[in-house]
Amino acid sequence: MSALMQTYARLPVTFSHGEGVYLYDTQGRRYLDGISGIAVNGLGHAHPAVVAAIRSQADKLIHSSNLYRIEAQEALGSALTKVAGMDNCFFGNSGAEANEAAIKLARLYGHERGIKKPAIVVLEGAFHGRTLATLSATGNRKIQAGFEPLVSGFVRAPRNDIEALRQIAANNPDVVAFLAEPVQGESGVQMLDPEYLQAAREICSNEDWLMMLDEVQTGNGRTGTYFAYQGLDFIPDVVTTAKGLGNGVPIGACLARGAAAQVFGAGHHGSTFGGNPLACATGLAVLNTIEQDGLCANASAMGQLITDILREECADAKNVAAIRGKGLMLGVELRRDCGELVQRAMDAGFLINVAGGNTVRLLPPLVISEPEARELAIGVAELIRNFD
Ligand SMILES: *Cc1c(COP(=O)(O)O)cnc(C)c1O
Repeated sequence: MSALMQTYARLPVTFSHGEGVYLYDTQGRRYLDGISGIAVNGLGHAHPAVVAAIRSQADKLIHSSNLYRIEAQEALGSALTKVAGMDNCFFGNSGAEANEAAIKLARLYGHERGIKKPAIVVLEGAFHGRTLATLSATGNRKIQAGFEPLVSGFVRAPRNDIEALRQIAANNPDVVAFLAEPVQGESGVQMLDPEYLQAAREICSNEDWLMMLDEVQTGNGRTGTYFAYQGLDFIPDVVTTAKGLGNGVPIGACLARGAAAQVFGAGHHGSTFGGNPLACATGLAVLNTIEQDGLCANASAMGQLITDILREECADAKNVAAIRGKGLMLGVELRRDCGELVQRAMDAGFLINVAGGNTVRLLPPLVISEPEARELAIGVAELIRNFD
């Protein structure tokens, strides 16, 4: 019997090390990493800037406490809010914790306005995490089943339906916020229309709702801008992020601006590990590298290249329903479930993922080069063509 709770149906492979976009298993086999530990290793594996930041911070101080000032946390907080156009931030250790902070912030914002049972609008197909509140915000009955009673205070809306949002605004005076992923990752790289997000922004402003974007997966350069909303024409009130921020060192952040940035005071929220020196020194090295090496632009260019190749190579593939995505967050939706493609891809030397049952999801490192992007796109297209 395994000593581990069987919460994952794991693939029978163990990686020993990595370099750049490649991972090596304990048998010495090499794989092109098309998933980056689920959008975590944006700088690939063993990136020298990340390794150096971890080494030098570990040499000095790994943890003190949020009872004291933390230099690395202040430095990362100022760099991250600057790149995001936000006023301040709170650090946790994961995406779920970043969203918990946002949910608590929205509720407190509501209570300050005299709303006793504040509600948050969330979308069908959303994924916000596995803690009770974030699971309740998630729009996937399968992963909620068995964990009732769920946390109340969420109102579900269909995605990309502006009229439905207007209806909720007209009928529900308890709503205090709107929470959504700009691109829904876990449910199969589902895009939110720019017009929908723009309309949501306007409704939030008119109704005094906080517009909160979950950029846990889309953030840190993944979609071709540092945050996905930066490719659009508005700014949210609250942004959460995590995955790509620490390149594997656990860290999450909830950023806020304007009135939302004034909600939390001393004692309202906390975390023992959140924002510790090691995580923040690493996050700062990641952010600086993304900026200095132009990795947002690379994500955009390589994402376009991979999309172009997939479209061309799969032009006659009748099993392909859609190819979509933004930057290096790409999905190829097939006409039937395709979970077995993950193992076939591994046999061919590629790490890919299937989301929403029928969508091949690609999230390669932002540092991917043109030859590597071609190798991935051509390899994956071949697997898909042969899957009929
Ligand atoms: C992964 C993810 C989360 C949860 O992050 P954890 O670090 O696993 O808690 C939340 N929201 C989105 C959009 C995600 O992709």
